[in-house]
Amino acid sequence: MAHKSIDYSAPVVLTNCSVVDVENADVITDASIHIAGGRITSVQKASATDSSVQVIDLRGGWVTPGLWDCHAHLGLLIPDPTNFGFFETQPRRTIRAGQNAMDALRVGITTVRVTGEAEYIDLAWRDAFASGQHVGPRIYGAGHMMRCTGGHLNRAHKKYIYVRDAMEIDGTTEAMKATREQISMGVDLIKIVVTGGMSAGEGVADMQMTKDEVGAIVTIAHGRGRQVTAHAGGGQPTRDALEVGIDCIEHGYDLDEETVAMMVERGTFFVPTIGVTHDDEFACEHMWNDQTRAKASTLAPAHRDSLLLAKEHGVPICSGGDKYPIAESGLREVQRLVDVGLTPAEALQAATCNPARLMKADSWVGTVSAGKVADLAVWARNPLDDISALDELQKVYLSGRLVTDVDSDGAYDPARQGAGVSRIGIPNNAI
Ligand SMILES: [Zn+2]
Repeated sequence: MAHKSIDYSAPVVLTNCSVVDVENADVITDASIHIAGGRITSVQKASATDSSVQVIDLRGGWVTPGLWDCHAHLGLLIPDPTNFGFFETQPRRTIRAGQNAMDALRVGITTVRVTGEAEYIDLAWRDAFASGQHVGPRIYGAGHMMRCTGGHLNRAHKKYIYVRDAMEIDGTTEAMKATREQISMGVDLIKIVVTGGMSAGEGVADMQMTKDEVGAIVTIAHGRGRQVTAHAGGGQPTRDALEVGIDCIEHGYDLDEETVAMMVERGTFFVPTIGVTHDDEFACEHMWNDQTRAKASTLAPAHRDSLLLAKEHGVPICSGGDKYPIAESGLREVQRLVDVGLTPAEALQAATCNPARLMKADSWVGTVSAGKVADLAVWARNPLDDISALDELQKVYLSGRLVTDVDSDGAYDPARQGAGVSRIGIPNNAI
C-alpha cells in the first residue's frame, strides 16, 4: 500500500482541489477538505495554511464521494461463458471474490452492495474488510439470493456444480424459514427473484415467486430491520411485490406507468443495471453468447424507457453494474446511465448519495461534507462536465486513508495478465 508512512488517523488536509457537491450538482473550486479520525471535519473554500497538520496537494483534482456499486456479485459470474462456475471449488471462489472486491476499491468504488453470493462469501469479506484484516470496500451483503425451485439463474440440472449460490424456496413456510436462516447468518438485506430475467427460456415479467411468498419474506425481513430487494422485470408479479412492501427493484426491464406510480407512492428505489442491455462492447469482450446478446438488444428499448419513466417521475435511481469484474462494470454503469439519458449529475447521484439513502447510511456517507466518512475519489477532470472523467482516476481514499494513488501504483488494468487472470477475470490456466 502506498504512503504507509503517513498517519491517516492524524488530522490531514487535502488541498488544491475542486469538490463536487453531488446533491446540488455544484462545485466548490479551490477547496480544502479537512479530515480527522477518518471523517471529514470541514470543507472550506480556501487553500490550507495550517502548518500543524499534514497537507496533501491534490494538484487540481476533482473530488467526489467514493462510488457505490449497488448491484454486484463477488464470485458469481454472469454470464459464465465457459461454465467456469460449475467446476470451481468454494475456496477458489472465495479468493476470487475477495480479489474482485479489492479491485473495485482500487478504481474508486468504496462501497459494494452484493445482491446475491454463494455460501455467505460476501459476509466473510465484509467482516474481513470492516475489521481491517484486509483493505477492501465497505460491503452490504444479501447472502444467498432467494428464488423458487428452478427459478432465474438456477443450475440445478448441472450435476457437477460445487457451490450453492442461491436458496430455493417454495411456499410461505419455506420462504420464512430461509429468510430467518439468512438473517441468523448476518445478512444486511434480502434479495429475492420475483420474475424471470436474462436467462434463456424465461420472460422478464414471468411470475416466479408468488405474492404470498414475497409477502412472507417481507414480513420476516422487515420485522428484523432488513430490507428486501427484488429482481423484478415488470408486469403483475412486480406490482404484487410492490404491494406487499419490497423496498427496491433490481433491473426493471419493462416497467409501465402504473408500476412506476406505485414506486413513487411507496418510496421504492430502482437499480436499473442498464448496462445489462446497453453495453454490447462489454458483452463481446466478455464472451457473452449470441443468445444472451440478442436478448439484451431485444430488451434494450423497453429497459431504457423504464429508466426514463422512473427519472421523469422522480424515483430514486442507484447505479449497479451486475457484471464481472466490478472494477470495470461498476464504473461503466455510471457512464451507461448517462448514455441512456441521465445527466452526469444524476448518474453521480445514482452512484453516491442515492445509494447511501437506499441503505439508510446517508447520515455518515455519500457526500463530501462535514461529518461524513472520508471515502473519496479524485479525478483528473470534472465528471459533472463529462462523465468519461471516471476513466481518469487519480486517487482513492477510504475513511481518509489513501488506498490508490495512480501516480505511484499505476492505473488498474482490467486484463490483469500479470496476475495470471484472463480478460473475463478467471485464472488463465482454467480456460
Ligand atoms: Zn444480479
